[in-house]
Amino acid sequence: MSRPSNADISRRDLAHVWHPCTQMHDHEQLPLVPIRRGEGIWLEDFDGQRYMDAISSWWVNLFGHAHPQLNAALREQAETLEHVILAGFTHEAIVELSERLVALAPPGLTRCFYADNGSSGIEVALKMSVHAWRNQGLMKKTRFIALENSYHGETLGALGVTDIPLFSETYQPLLQAPLRAPSPAAPAGAPDGDCDRYCDLALAGMEALLAKHAHEVAAVIVEPLVQGAAGMRMYSPRYLTRLRELCDQYAVYLIADEIAVGFGRTGTLFACEQANITPDFLVLSKGLTAGYLPMSVVLTHARIYEVFYDRYETLKGFLHSHSYTGNALAARVALASLDLFAQGDVIAANRQLALVMAEAIAPLRAHPKVSSVRQTGMIAAIELVRDKASGTPYDWRERRGLAIFQAALKRGLLLRPIGHVVYFMPPYIITPEQIHWMVATAIEAIDEGLRAPAGASSEIGPSMA
Ligand SMILES: *Cc1c(COP(=O)(O)O)cnc(C)c1O
Repeated sequence: MSRPSNADISRRDLAHVWHPCTQMHDHEQLPLVPIRRGEGIWLEDFDGQRYMDAISSWWVNLFGHAHPQLNAALREQAETLEHVILAGFTHEAIVELSERLVALAPPGLTRCFYADNGSSGIEVALKMSVHAWRNQGLMKKTRFIALENSYHGETLGALGVTDIPLFSETYQPLLQAPLRAPSPAAPAGAPDGDCDRYCDLALAGMEALLAKHAHEVAAVIVEPLVQGAAGMRMYSPRYLTRLRELCDQYAVYLIADEIAVGFGRTGTLFACEQANITPDFLVLSKGLTAGYLPMSVVLTHARIYEVFYDRYETLKGFLHSHSYTGNALAARVALASLDLFAQGDVIAANRQLALVMAEAIAPLRAHPKVSSVRQTGMIAAIELVRDKASGTPYDWRERRGLAIFQAALKRGLLLRPIGHVVYFMPPYIITPEQIHWMVATAIEAIDEGLRAPAGASSEIGPSMA
């Protein structure tokens, strides 16, 4: 039997698969990319073309595709125990993973509650924070404060605290609206360099909200250091340090959504380390299993755990569950990923790679259509504007990001711009040579995408988030 081609797989896919975050009509013109296999930083399609995965397959992959050590751990676990109910039962992988996460996380986070994916981890943190106040007799603390341009996932609770209208507007009648605090990150189109001012403004805005609403607020939720889905908008650790003080002062819990930034993306294992803080809830997913399997965990401290701990009849227990809570395969792969961190001193190696990335992207500052070149650790972003002097953005209908995506794909590079922000978030196994190739190829793709006639692909939806 001959091996299927890209066209064969695409035809069968489009007959039945409904793709995420996609206007399916786009695929009348935009070819799907059917991937046959992955190896290291490369993905290979059914026609034999290779693509460098510069976005870690939606920010999940840490050590490349089909990693031999992760594969072996998974295989061994599958032969022993694939899954068992975690209520009333337990298994060695989840015990060991919890011990190791507690040892690595900011000090004081000693309890791990597991869920199936990032969004459901956010749901756990939101519910737990409200429930914790309730168990202390404070029934009115049921609202949340979230930042402008935040992204916390797509389930209804998580979407409620998200501020990306493209994803949330349609579902507004189903969502509980949070209080919105200003973002400490520079707005779209702004030049780099004024981050102290945005940080101060955002702190003043947060304090005003807390002063007025703390009595009805359960928690503040933030994406530490990088607001990912808003276009890799970055801000100073100083904001988090002060936010921790404000949350303590006003008796409001702090939820750190490190789903995207955890596990070394920002230059430290967890972004909160750079601000020297311990949140009340730390939500981890994506890199937790190195991009292998869906799993999330919410870490919290003893004081929270204790307000739930009582006789059954008090109904103070956290009666939340997901079928696959604490899945053994996911836990084993997460452990194998932590082994890779320990073996190679990945954080130190990443610091070197981040310097190479900084050097490679620096020339883009002089590009006539680039308003911002920003970087936090292993995440780098380039923002494109129609007019640099005034910061005037491209019209979203021009879909320049999509044109850049296509131009990069043609050259063997997987980029997925968010609107007009091109970003790099590569797996940690990338080499300095590959970084230079990735950035040089992206620059060619940007120039081709910006040269394309305006609206050439205007039938193809608004965002590439
Ligand atoms: C991806 C992401 C989520 C949602 O995680 P899913 O696994 O996609 O549900 C939440 N918050 C942040 C910051 C994310 O990047």
